[in-house]
Amino acid sequence: DVFYRELPKVELHAHLNGSVSFETIEKLIGRKPHLNIEHGMTAIGKGQRRTLDECFQVFKVIHQLVDTEEDILMVATDVIKEFAADGVKYLELRSTPREEKSTGLTKKRYIETVIKAIQQCKSEGVDIDVRFLVAIDRRNGTEVAVETVKLAKEFMLSSDGLVVGIDLSGDPTDRTGLAENVSFVVGHGKDLLPALQMAKNCGLKLSLHLSEIQSQLEESDLLLDLPPDRIGHGTFLHPEVGGSQSVFDKVVKNNIPLELCLTSNVKGQTVPCYSKHHFKYWYQLGHPSVICTDDKGVFCTDLSQEYQLAASTFGLSREAVWELSQQAIDCIFAPDAVKQQLKQKWIDLKPQVF
Ligand code: 5GP
Repeated sequence: DVFYRELPKVELHAHLNGSVSFETIEKLIGRKPHLNIEHGMTAIGKGQRRTLDECFQVFKVIHQLVDTEEDILMVATDVIKEFAADGVKYLELRSTPREEKSTGLTKKRYIETVIKAIQQCKSEGVDIDVRFLVAIDRRNGTEVAVETVKLAKEFMLSSDGLVVGIDLSGDPTDRTGLAENVSFVVGHGKDLLPALQMAKNCGLKLSLHLSEIQSQLEESDLLLDLPPDRIGHGTFLHPEVGGSQSVFDKVVKNNIPLELCLTSNVKGQTVPCYSKHHFKYWYQLGHPSVICTDDKGVFCTDLSQEYQLAASTFGLSREAVWELSQQAIDCIFAPDAVKQQLKQKWIDLKPQVF
């Protein structure tokens, strides 16, 4: 539907390597035929469902395809242009810096390359304001988290405002640990709290994946005391799904916006179906709720489609959809001046869209 494509949109929850399109995967496979990777291994098509754990296996395949600076530059540039073509006017991309000994990729170069892609798109006049959140993979434990925050801080100070915050993500179902030197149980928020506190203290904004699965309530309770600036998913935070009063109160009292990803949660089976998605609960409450894609490549969607899905599932009028996209502006991590520019853009575009 052209209305949803023309609707100006804000995307706040997009993992770089989960956002890689079919076309870009094609180019990557062409660069690395020896890996024998097929399309079916990098995306979850229409009507398909996976367990959350299986979704995380998909990222591992994509990471094999994206392991040089050239790959990252191409992937980031393509993803930014695709969001722009979908009517996204402001995008916060997030990605976990990786080092790859075999190709000489370092975490620092990883971040620099994403920034380079953002700057290139800007200089080409692509109509989208892009910012970057440096991601912490919870499975990598305390030390890597601290190191990531230090890197993010460096870039926050040197990137002309492009690096604005930290994301906490990674498989919440995996408790075995990834780092070579980690032999104990990792991934719990209490091990990551000092790093997150440090990030907050130096002015980095925090977007944390919280309660994606039911067993994370105690962790959410702890991390909500920071408090984070936004919450990713928050699937099990409200009382109807077993969320505690304490957790619920912290979210509401601090008015912490939720980043909600319908297709991702249905395909990853953390919610049973679209009509039971927790968007309904939070939206009816009037709590700041932002529609996002999560991983548009892996879940075969885009932001227009997600807005359309929310509208058709929950019976939102076009006016209500417009308001929803406009209210997302208040939840961005870029400074107030950027919010004012975006609000003006929405005012200017409204007559064209309706
Ligand atoms: P990257 O950080 O490599 O650009 O994007 C892929 C990574 O994002 C995954 O390895 C994972 O750490 C994170 N990610 C993507 N989607 C999800 C999700 O739905 N939940 C969580 N917890 N992490 C995710």
